[in-house]
Amino acid sequence: MSDIATTTAESPARSPLAAEVARRRTFAIISHPDAGKTTLTEKLLLFGGAINLAGQVKAKGERRNTRSDWMKIERERGISVVTSVMTFEFEGLVFNLLDTPGHEDFSEDTYRTLTAVDSAVMVIDAAKGIEARTRKLFEVCRLRDIPIITFINKMDRESRDVFELLDEIEKTLALDTTPMTWPVGRGRDFLGTYDVVNGGVRLLEGGGAKTGAAQQIEIEELAKLSANLDVSAVKDELELVTAASKPFELAAFREGHLTPVYFGSALRNFGVGDLLEGLGKFAPEPRAQDSDQRKVEATDPRMSAFVFKIQANMDPNHRDRIAFARLCSGKLSRGMKAKLVRTGKSMPLSSPQFFFAQDRSVADEAFAGDVVGIPNHGTLRIGDTLTEGEDFNFVGVPSFAPEIVRRVRLTDAMKAKKLKEALQQMSEEGVVQVFRPRDGAPALVGVVGALQLDVLKARLDAEYSLPVEFEVSEFQLARWVSSEDRKKLDTFIAANTSSIADDVDGDPVYLARNEFYLGYTKERAEGIEFTNVKDVK
Ligand code: GDP
Repeated sequence: MSDIATTTAESPARSPLAAEVARRRTFAIISHPDAGKTTLTEKLLLFGGAINLAGQVKAKGERRNTRSDWMKIERERGISVVTSVMTFEFEGLVFNLLDTPGHEDFSEDTYRTLTAVDSAVMVIDAAKGIEARTRKLFEVCRLRDIPIITFINKMDRESRDVFELLDEIEKTLALDTTPMTWPVGRGRDFLGTYDVVNGGVRLLEGGGAKTGAAQQIEIEELAKLSANLDVSAVKDELELVTAASKPFELAAFREGHLTPVYFGSALRNFGVGDLLEGLGKFAPEPRAQDSDQRKVEATDPRMSAFVFKIQANMDPNHRDRIAFARLCSGKLSRGMKAKLVRTGKSMPLSSPQFFFAQDRSVADEAFAGDVVGIPNHGTLRIGDTLTEGEDFNFVGVPSFAPEIVRRVRLTDAMKAKKLKEALQQMSEEGVVQVFRPRDGAPALVGVVGALQLDVLKARLDAEYSLPVEFEVSEFQLARWVSSEDRKKLDTFIAANTSSIADDVDGDPVYLARNEFYLGYTKERAEGIEFTNVKDVK
């Protein structure tokens, strides 16, 4: 495995920056709740040497929870609200694992996180196959051409027929599969996996070894290990698999048409090493990112980054926030100044944070592909671009039309100004979207999932002493409106003032009572575009 870094190198004479970029793999894990994402994350960190952390990913979350009130929601419901970043090194490569909240109420966060990765691991429960949430997240990856590596988990338990599982991936996701390993024995008789590419069987026993160097044997020796195993049937099956499988093609994988498939058990730390090796070998290096001016290559020496997530500081007494920024090009050094393109102002990056799994250390430098946490007092918003002076904005960090719209009612009317400020802040953090009606009516909040409303309520109370209630509003839907023709847009807005609101960036939004009204208005609004996804600039 030690030759990964060199085999992916294009030329030995590359610049130090290009060499740093080449050894980065920035990825996320997508799965349906309970498929084993947390367990797999722990095991991946174990490979990265963060042994003290393995088994503590959830426990660590709980420690954090005790620090602030609003995160009680997280604890009570036993779900992870916060997206975290974990960086670990293995075999000379730097892996940045961006965790995504599994609960669907936080899908906005998850989708934005997927804008910041170059590849994804799709974890499938072998007994369940493709589940609803896996499929939804897969679709987001496909939209962005993110290549997928598949890990079929829980092979130590009763599973569905393996051929059927692959067939399901191919049919429901329209994705070719190439098994890289193949399970030998099933359920309680699961012995290990056959290496389809190089031959040989790796045994489950010993699979817990940190290096992943499980004991390897020839098929003939299997008979000695399990009386239940029909070795000739296994041989026949493996012959069939080898003959019938599509060969792995790197280009097809990188374009998102083919997924290499690994089998294992995260719980028993089996197959995780193979998966990590696959990530190192096949997953792409940090890729070029689209901006409104040009494509920005990762090896471009000028630093650039975009903010895909904001997290409030755990300490409610300090309104500090951490902006999570993905570096798209160049190198970020502590203390350097960056230009915030939205405002044109320069900001010092005095204490960017790195997220090494071993300890949360203060970074001295980070490279394209890495994610850094930038503490700030509200200067940074989701979608913001930071550069070394250039004027361009990255595109593609989306906002989604809310599925639930509510009016915020203050129990103390004297605090209206404070509420306005608080809502502004919450919307900049991406907790909720805020729409301010042009006719001066009280603000509306929009969320994709109901849980976001609970978080908003708890945080307004804990951090701003603002007790609020939510009321059903006459409006149920919100769509961004735009037009090629500025005049047409102005006319439309003037004719519909009582249904127009401004979002956090001042962009106009049309509010509708229901689908019927929306359809009715759309039909009559010639030249006006209604969209339910907005690329945050
Ligand atoms: P998540 O919701 O996707 O993060 O799933 P978790 O990692 O929390 O796992 C859900 C449950 O499945 C837990 O009880 C795990 O112990 C169990 N689990 C995870 N991986 C495996 C596995 O490979 N084999 C078995 N038998 N159980 C597993």
